Amino acid sequence: MPTYEYECTECGYRFEKFQKMTDKPLSKCPQCKGKVRRLIGLGGGVIFKGPGFYTTEYRSEDYKKREREEKQGVSAGSSSSCSSCSATSCSTCKK
Ligand SMILES: [Zn+2]
Repeated sequence: MPTYEYECTECGYRFEKFQKMTDKPLSKCPQCKGKVRRLIGLGGGVIFKGPGFYTTEYRSEDYKKREREEKQGVSAGSSSSCSSCSATSCSTCKK
């Protein structure tokens, strides 16, 4: 029974699955239910390295951007909230 290697195109999760030749290839990621692609054979790893790397890079950039935005949102929220009266927009005791 061959082992198939899959990689999720959404979250980059890689996993192996024992399947019969007659079994349908998996299409869903067990982690995020995203689309997975099957990496076929040993040579497939080299072929899929390029786009896989790109996907990972793109995702990490996107992730970093989102993380940055979240941090900005948090810091903006804490700076605008008043420390003495805990109101979000305090005009009397604003620093
Ligand atoms: Zn996934």
